[in-house]
Amino acid sequence: MAWDFSTEPEFEKKLAWVREFVREEIYPLETLDLDHHTFRRLARPLQQQVKEQGLWAAHLGPELGGQGFGQVKLALLHEILGASDLAPFVFGNHAPDSGNAELLALAGTPEQKERWLYPLLEGELLSAYAMTEPGTGSDPKQLTTSARLEGDEWVINGHKWFVGNASRADFHIVMAVTEPEADPHHRMSMLIVPTSTPGIRMRELGNMHAPDGRHPLWSHCEVFYEDVRVPRENLLGGRGEGFVLAQKRLGPGRIHHAMRWLGVSRRAFDMLCERAVSVSVHGSRLADKQTIQNWVADCAAQMEAARLLTLQAAWRIDRYGASNARLDISMIKYFGAAVMHDVIDKALQVHGSLGFSTDMPLEQMYRWSRAARIYDGPDEVHRVTVAKLLLRRYQPVEVPTEHVPTRREAALRRFQAQLELLTENM
Ligand SMILES: Cc1cc2nc3c(=O)[nH]c(=O)nc-3n(C[C@H](O)[C@H](O)[C@H](O)COP(=O)(O)OP(=O)(O)OC[C@H]3O[C@@H](n4cnc5c(N)ncnc54)[C@H](O)[C@@H]3O)c2cc1C
Repeated sequence: MAWDFSTEPEFEKKLAWVREFVREEIYPLETLDLDHHTFRRLARPLQQQVKEQGLWAAHLGPELGGQGFGQVKLALLHEILGASDLAPFVFGNHAPDSGNAELLALAGTPEQKERWLYPLLEGELLSAYAMTEPGTGSDPKQLTTSARLEGDEWVINGHKWFVGNASRADFHIVMAVTEPEADPHHRMSMLIVPTSTPGIRMRELGNMHAPDGRHPLWSHCEVFYEDVRVPRENLLGGRGEGFVLAQKRLGPGRIHHAMRWLGVSRRAFDMLCERAVSVSVHGSRLADKQTIQNWVADCAAQMEAARLLTLQAAWRIDRYGASNARLDISMIKYFGAAVMHDVIDKALQVHGSLGFSTDMPLEQMYRWSRAARIYDGPDEVHRVTVAKLLLRRYQPVEVPTEHVPTRREAALRRFQAQLELLTENM
C-alpha cells in the first residue's frame, strides 16, 4: 500500500535551496524593467549556479543533461519556480524551449540533436513553436500552412499567429501540411526553420501580458512564411507525424504550466494574507472581517485541491505515461488556471487601488494569468475532453440504474424469504 504525501528528505534539501535562491536572486530582477538581452546576460551566472546544483533542465532525462526527476519531483520544483515568471529560464526549463527540447529529443536525428538540441539545452539557442494560425488554435486539424518538397528543399508558405518568442528565437519548429491527401491526423509534419531564413516576416503583438511589447523574456508574434526554403533533412520526425508529435509535446507541457501556476497562486495568497493582517479599516483588521476570512479559507482550499490534482496527474504520468493521464492533465489545465486567476483576483481586491497599481506585482500577475485559460487549448476544449472521457464510462439504459421502484422490486425479490421469516416470528 503506497499512499504517501511526503517529500524525500534529500530532495527537500534541494527544494529548500531553490526556494532561497529564487527569492534572493531572481525576485529582485523582476523589479529592474530589464530588456531581453540585459536579462539574458544577468541570468548567465545564475544559470551556472543552477547547473552546479544539478538542477539544470530538470524536465529532461540524464542522457540529455537533465536530472530525470520524473513528473512528481518536477511538480514540486516547478511549484517554486512558477512564482516568478523569470525563474524557469534561469533553471533551463521555460516554455517554449522546454517543450521544443523534448520534441527534438523524441524525434530528432543525431544531426538535428547536435545542431539544435544540445545548444538549446545549454541555453545557447532560443526556440519557438509555430503551430497556431488565426482562428485555428482549438482545432489544429484546420491548419493550412503548407510545406512541399521541391528537389532537396521544403518550401513553406503560411501564416502563424501568437508564436511565443518567434522574434527572439534562433529557430522555429513549424507545423505544416505536407500530406494534403491524408486524413486530418496524418496531414501535418514538423520542420525546423532557422529564423534567419529568407521569406520570414514577423510582427510582435501587444497583448495583455506585455501591452507595450516589453518583457525580459517573451514576445508573441504573428509570423508569415513566404516561400521559405529549408533543406529536406530539416523535417523533424516522419512525414505526417506532426499531429502525434504535437500531442506528445503538449501533454507534459500542459502539466508543467499547471505546476508553475501553483507557485503563482501561492505568491498571490501570501500577499493576500499579509495585507489582511496589516491593514485596519472600520475599527478592525481586514483579517477580522468575515468576508476576507472566507476568501482566505476558500483560496486555501482551492489551492490545495489544485495542488493535489496536479500531483496526482504527475504521479499518473510517471506511473502510466502521459497518454494514460489525459483526463487528469485536461482537468488540471482548466481547474488550475481558474484557481490561479481567482486567488490573484482576491489578493488584488484586498489591496484595493494599491493592487491595481504597478507598485504591486498583482496587476501583472492578473493579466498574465488570464492567458492560462487560452494557451495550450482553451478551457472549453479541455472540459470537452474530460467530459468525453468520463461519459465513455457510462452506457445508455432504458430505466435509470438508481430508479427506486425498480430497485425496490429487486430488493423485495432478494430479501423476500428473510422478510417473510421475520414477519412470521413477530
Ligand atoms: C500567451 C499565449 C502564448 C501562446 N503561445 C503559442 C506558441 O508559442 N505557439 C503556438 O503555436 N500557439 C501559441 N498560442 C496560441 C494558443 O495555443 C491558442 O490561442 C489556443 O490554442 C486557442 O486557439 P485560438 O486562440 O485560435 O482560439 P480559437 O480556436 O479561435 O477559439 C476561440 C474560443 O472559442 C471557444 N471554443 C473553441 N473550441 C471550443 C469547443 N470545442 N467548445 C466550446 N467552445 C470552444 C473558446 O471559448 C475559445 O477560447 C499562445 C496563446 C497565448 C494566449
